Amino acid sequence: MRKFLIAGNWKMNGGDQFTFDLLSFINNQKPAISEDVDVLVCPNFVSLSMAINQLSKSDILLGAQNVHEAEKGAYTGEISASMLVEAGCSFVLLGHSERRAYYNEDDTLVHKKLQTVLRHELAPVVCVGELLDERKESRHFEVVKTQTLAAFEGLTDEQAFQVVIAYEPVWAIGTGETASPIQAQEMHAFIRSILAKQFGEVANAIRILYGGSMKPANAHQLLSQPDVDGGLIGGASLDAKSFVSIIEIAESLTNTVREADSPTTLEEH
Ligand code: PEP
Repeated sequence: MRKFLIAGNWKMNGGDQFTFDLLSFINNQKPAISEDVDVLVCPNFVSLSMAINQLSKSDILLGAQNVHEAEKGAYTGEISASMLVEAGCSFVLLGHSERRAYYNEDDTLVHKKLQTVLRHELAPVVCVGELLDERKESRHFEVVKTQTLAAFEGLTDEQAFQVVIAYEPVWAIGTGETASPIQAQEMHAFIRSILAKQFGEVANAIRILYGGSMKPANAHQLLSQPDVDGGLIGGASLDAKSFVSIIEIAESLTNTVREADSPTTLEEH
């Protein structure tokens, strides 16, 4: 059974004070987290050390929002994978749609970053997802397939196992509009079917998160889907109460038999 991962992407929303306050609120409201759920927060780079201090007595994991593809060198303003490990990160987001849209990150660059990250003690969370027009033109499966295959190209089974995918339909990010549980499940099962062709059984161990306006009101339905293994949460993770509610919803679902125990439908589109 795959373990839920509930991840907060705090983006560029606040510095050390914000990080301190938000983590204090989360820790106060949720002093213990079930061992059946992984919880991750991704603050900005400069607040990682504040965060790791705050998390020293907590089960919450630390992640970064981006990384450079090179190991080191003359890349002014960039941050390397080894720096993230040194700062206490165990995860890093790759290819978030905002990075793809505003910083021209394409599939080739995301793949290079993924290869770099896998050489370190870091688990990549690779974001994939279609634009609204692509869904309207019924090209969403094709787009997500291309992004997924490009990210996983040439990986060994062992490497693939380290990767987390976040399916984030771009039209649902920060818009208040959410993919329906059926749309999410359909895409997650599709992604798993692509991975199964390349990695066989390993595909059943790879976590696929849903991202796009997940909040307490819709988390239960989304997280109940058999191939939805957690959430990548932007807006709702900035509010301790909402984030903790989503964690608790995931915890409540760990005792229910999600249909994930049954074989995934392998659909081809
Ligand atoms: C995100 O940016 O990864 C995200 C899912 O944001 P939101 O939850 O605000 O839609």
